[in-house]
Amino acid sequence: MRAAVLRRTGATAPYAASRPLAIETVQLQPPGRGEVRVRVRAAGLCHSDLSVIDGSRPRPLPMLLGHEATGEVVELGEGVSGLRLGDQVVFSFVPMCGHCDPCACGRPVLCEAGAAANAAGTLLDGGARLRDADDAPLHHHLGVSGFAEYAVVSGHSAVRIDADLPPSIAALFGCAVMTGVGAVVNTAGVRPGESVAVFGLGGVGLSALLGAAACSAWPLVAVDVVPDKLALARELGASHCIDARTGDVAAQVREATGGGVDHAIETAGDERVLAAAYAATRRGGCTVTVGLPAPDRMFSVPAVGLVAEERTVKGSYMGSAVPRRDIPRYIALHRAGRLPVERLLTHTLALDDINAGFDRLASGEAIRQVVLFD
Ligand SMILES: [Zn+2]
Ligand SMILES: [Zn+2]
Repeated sequence: MRAAVLRRTGATAPYAASRPLAIETVQLQPPGRGEVRVRVRAAGLCHSDLSVIDGSRPRPLPMLLGHEATGEVVELGEGVSGLRLGDQVVFSFVPMCGHCDPCACGRPVLCEAGAAANAAGTLLDGGARLRDADDAPLHHHLGVSGFAEYAVVSGHSAVRIDADLPPSIAALFGCAVMTGVGAVVNTAGVRPGESVAVFGLGGVGLSALLGAAACSAWPLVAVDVVPDKLALARELGASHCIDARTGDVAAQVREATGGGVDHAIETAGDERVLAAAYAATRRGGCTVTVGLPAPDRMFSVPAVGLVAEERTVKGSYMGSAVPRRDIPRYIALHRAGRLPVERLLTHTLALDDINAGFDRLASGEAIRQVVLFD
C-alpha cells in the first residue's frame, strides 16, 4: 500500500521542496489477535504531526505518521469484540487497555499500556505490522498511522461511528474535536455563563471555541496572531477577538471580561502563551493547557497565587476524553448543528501533496486539512 513515511527530522521548509514525508510503497501485515484492518477513508493533518516532522516531539524513526483518521473495518483479527466488518470507525490515538489503574479509574487517556506502546511506536500489545519495501520495520504513530491506504490497529484504538458521516468530517473527531471540545467539557468543566478565553486558533483551539460556545460560555474570547483566524472565531461565536501581536494580551483579556476569565484554554504549545493565559484568568480561575511545548521548555508562576488566589493549572491530553463516550456525543452535537466543525476544514488533498499541506499548516494558512483516499 502507499503511505507517508518520515525517515529523519529537521528538514528545511518549504516541505513541498524538501519532502520530509516520503510517499512509499510499504507492507502491512494482517491483524493479530485483538486487532483490525481498516481501509482509511480520510486523515487529518495535525500540528503534533508537524512537531514530529520538525523534531520538537521526538519519536522513534522511521515512522508512518498520521493520528487523526477515519475508515472502514475490512478485516478482523481473532478475538475482536465490539467491531464488525463494514463498521465505520474513528481512531483514538491513545489505545485503552481497559485493565490498568487509569483505565479502571475512568481516565483511559492515561492508559499505561497505551502510553508505553505509543512511546515505543508499536500497537497496544507491543507488536508492529508495518514494513518497508526492503522488509525493514516501520514504527506506528500513536497506534494509528493514518497517512496510508490501510491501517492495522488494536481494536482498542477504534471507535465505531455513524456510517453516513462524510469521512472528511469524521476524521476531525479523532484529534481536533476530541481534544479541543474535551478540554472545555471534561478538563475545565465549563458551565453556562462562565467566561472562557482560547489562546491559539488552530484546529484544536477553534474546536475548544466551538465547545465553549456549545456550553454557553460568555464572554468568549479568542486570541491569535492571524487575522483570518480571528475573523473566523468571531463567526463561530467569539464575543471578543484579540490580536496577540498588539500590546499586553492578558491585560486586554482582563479588560474585556471585567477582571479576567474563569477558564483560559491554551492550545499553542508555547510556554510564553501559557504564561499569558494564566495571567488572563481571574482570582479562582483555571488555566487548561492543551498544546505540546518541546520537552525542554519550563513554565513558572508566582507560587503564592495558587493558594491565595485559588488559581489552578491543569494539563489536558486528548481532551481528558473517554473516546467511546465522547466521540459519539460530539458527533451527535455536530449533527444537531451545535458543533459546526465543518467550518474548520479548509483543504482536502491527495496523499502525494501532503508535504505542501504541512507548509500550509506551519504558515497558518490552513486550519484543518484532510487527505482523502479513494
Ligand atoms: Zn492531533
Ligand atoms: Zn489501560
